[in-house]
This record gives sequence, structure tokens and C-alpha cells, in this order.
Amino acid sequence: MKQFQYIRPATQQSVLDAIAKPGVKILAGGSNLIDLMKRGVTSPDKLVDIQKLPLHGISQNLGNVRTVSVGALELNSAVAEHKIIKEEFPLLSMALNAGASPQLRNMATVGGNMMQRTRCTYFYDTTMPCNKREPNSGCGAMEGINRMHAIFGTSDKCIAVHPSDMCVALAALDATVEVKSKKGTRYIPFTEFHKLPGDTPQLDNTLAKSELITRVIIPNNHFAKNSYYLKVRDRASYAFALISVAAALHIEGGTIKDARLAMGGVAHKPWRLTAAEQFLKGKPGTAANFEQAAQLAMQGAKSYGHNDFKLKMAPASIVEALSKAAGLV
Ligand SMILES: Cc1cc2nc3c(=O)[nH]c(=O)nc-3n(C[C@H](O)[C@H](O)[C@H](O)COP(=O)(O)OP(=O)(O)OC[C@H]3O[C@@H](n4cnc5c(N)ncnc54)[C@H](O)[C@@H]3O)c2cc1C
Ligand code: SF4
Repeated sequence: MKQFQYIRPATQQSVLDAIAKPGVKILAGGSNLIDLMKRGVTSPDKLVDIQKLPLHGISQNLGNVRTVSVGALELNSAVAEHKIIKEEFPLLSMALNAGASPQLRNMATVGGNMMQRTRCTYFYDTTMPCNKREPNSGCGAMEGINRMHAIFGTSDKCIAVHPSDMCVALAALDATVEVKSKKGTRYIPFTEFHKLPGDTPQLDNTLAKSELITRVIIPNNHFAKNSYYLKVRDRASYAFALISVAAALHIEGGTIKDARLAMGGVAHKPWRLTAAEQFLKGKPGTAANFEQAAQLAMQGAKSYGHNDFKLKMAPASIVEALSKAAGLV
């Protein structure tokens, strides 16, 4: 591994000053970044450890617009087990508990989880072409082993997926990301935080290099009773999603008043299923309606050989997640 400097500033201002310079990377739990450094995928000159910053904690704002704020350094395990999250946002708790392993969830932070890189094996293998790791070098996965890869929003440069479970739930819950830089504070809707690959697959998201994620804000909702996070994977634990579905329904008197649906393992970003959400609004939560919503959600899907199975697995997973959220099964 290349030699690098390490600092652990005590103030946010010192962190913002440090990350504004080239060759510098933020270090949180280190569970992804250190792996990437060991494999030579990334070689920063300096690591800025942010663990001393006061970015922990989960708090409720009970003002006119009720929200919950989750600090960027809060651990995945702590968020999943927090009383407010379990009772009011069980979708997020389920998604977090479906990720990685208990040990990793005890290291992984909210900000780090959002910023984790793809698990495409060609991205990690520095002997293979990869436009994400090295722009314009080619894409090893396109004609290679692409079983884990995307079926929505791909480009001819990259077909990788974003690997997070937490982010799928946060996209469904319409969260907002607070970020800070020397220029001030900015708020990014969660669904606009991650980006599609297009011609710049080296960029996973819309965060500038000089910006620090400080917290995630989740608006209050009526989904607590009817939420489900389904994760389909090769092993029951310690495996990334082949397909995941975050389903949240507000049901009153058997009618769906509101719906939120997002998928993981299918795109370069958490993939919101807005056409299916619109279709479900005002309809009874029946198996037939869930089937139709799933068909709508699959419009525009395209597979690449090894991942052809996702074209069948995805709609079946949507129906299963919706049925579980609605209490049909
Ligand atoms: C074996 C294994 C299995 C896993 N399985 C899953 C899984 O099933 N589901 C899942 O969702 N995840 C899974 N993960 C990924 C794990 O959740 C991430 O590694 C973790 O969330 C990253 O958080 P961290 O705090 O350790 O980040 P780090 O490794 O410290 O940082 C990751 C990136 O985030 C940036 N960063 C960190 N904090 C901030 C901030 N506040 N502002 C701006 N940038 C920041 C860093 O600069 C770095 O680029 C797995 C990981 C491993 C190793
Ligand atoms: S899919 Fe993306 S990350 Fe994977 S090899 Fe191709 S360019 Fe690289």
C-alpha cells in the first residue's frame, strides 16, 4: 500500500479545510475505504479521520414539519436498533439489519454507507479494465461475468450497481442529505444524491470532493404499520443484494392512500419505482394490483447475460415485498 498521512482533526472547520485540498480522503469507519486502499483501487495522500466530530446522534424535530435527524457518524447498528427508528421507520431498521454482518454494522457509519463504492469485481481487480476505476479503460463486466449487475439506467460505459441496503430504504422514505463545505450548507434530496453512470461512471454521486456529509433528515410518514424490506441474496447473511425491495404503504380501510417503492441491486443508484407507486395510490392492496404494479416497474429493464434472471426475480420480489408490507402473506 502507498504511504499516506493520517490526521484526526477535532473541529469541523479543520476537516473542511483539509478535504478542500487534492489527494485527501475522509475516513469514517474505514470498512470500505481501507479495503480499497489495500487493493490499490484508491491511493490517497492523506486520510482525514472524522471520528472526533460531533456527527453522532438521532434526534426528533417535533415542529410543524416532523422529521428525524440521523448524524453521519451514527453507526449502522445503532441506527437499526434505535427506538425511534424501529417504531417509526421500521423499513430503515430492516434494511440496515439486512446489510453486511453485526461486526461490520458496528463499524460502518451512515455517511460511509452512502459513499461506499460498487462491489463489481472488475472495479476491485486492478488488472482488469474498468471505466469507474480508470476512465476510458473499458468495462470488464459488459462482456464478462455480470451476474450482480444492473438492469436499469445503465450506460455503455458502466453497468455496476450501488451496493447499499440502507440507501434503498432512505430513497423510499424521501430523506434529505445535509452536506457542508467551506462555501456553506447544502441539502440534497436522497433520490438525487447518487447518480446514473452516463459518461462519467467514475462519479458515484453528486457530492463535491470538498463536501462533508453531516446528517440525513427523514420526514415523518404513515408507513410504519405497512413496511417491508426484502433482500434476495446468495447467502442468508454477509452477502450483497442480488435484488432488494423497500416497500412502504399507507393503508386505510383497505385502500392504499400512499406508496413508496425502491429497489437495490438493479441500478447505479437506489431505484425508485414511481410509476408503480402512482398506480397503487387509491387502489385496494390486492395481489392482482401488486402484480400490475410490478409489471409497470419493469418497463425499460435490460439485462446483460449472466444477470438475465433478474428480469424475472425483480417483479417477483416487488410482489412479495408489497404482499408482506400489506400483510397479505
Ligand atoms: C464483507 C462486507 C460485506 C458487506 N455487506 C454489505 C451489505 O450487505 N449491505 C450494505 O449496505 N453494505 C455492506 N457492506 C458495506 C458496508 O456497509 C460499508 O463498508 C460501510 O457502510 C462503509 O461505512 P464506513 O463508515 O466504514 O465508511 P469508510 O470505509 O470509512 O468510507 C467509505 C467512503 O465514504 C466516504 N465518507 C465516509 N464518511 C463520509 C462523510 N461523512 N462525508 C463524506 N464522505 C464520507 C469516505 O471518504 C470513503 O470514500 C459490506 C462490507 C463488507 C466489507
Ligand atoms: S460495470 Fe462499471 S464498475 Fe464494473 S467494470 Fe464496468 S465500468 Fe467498472
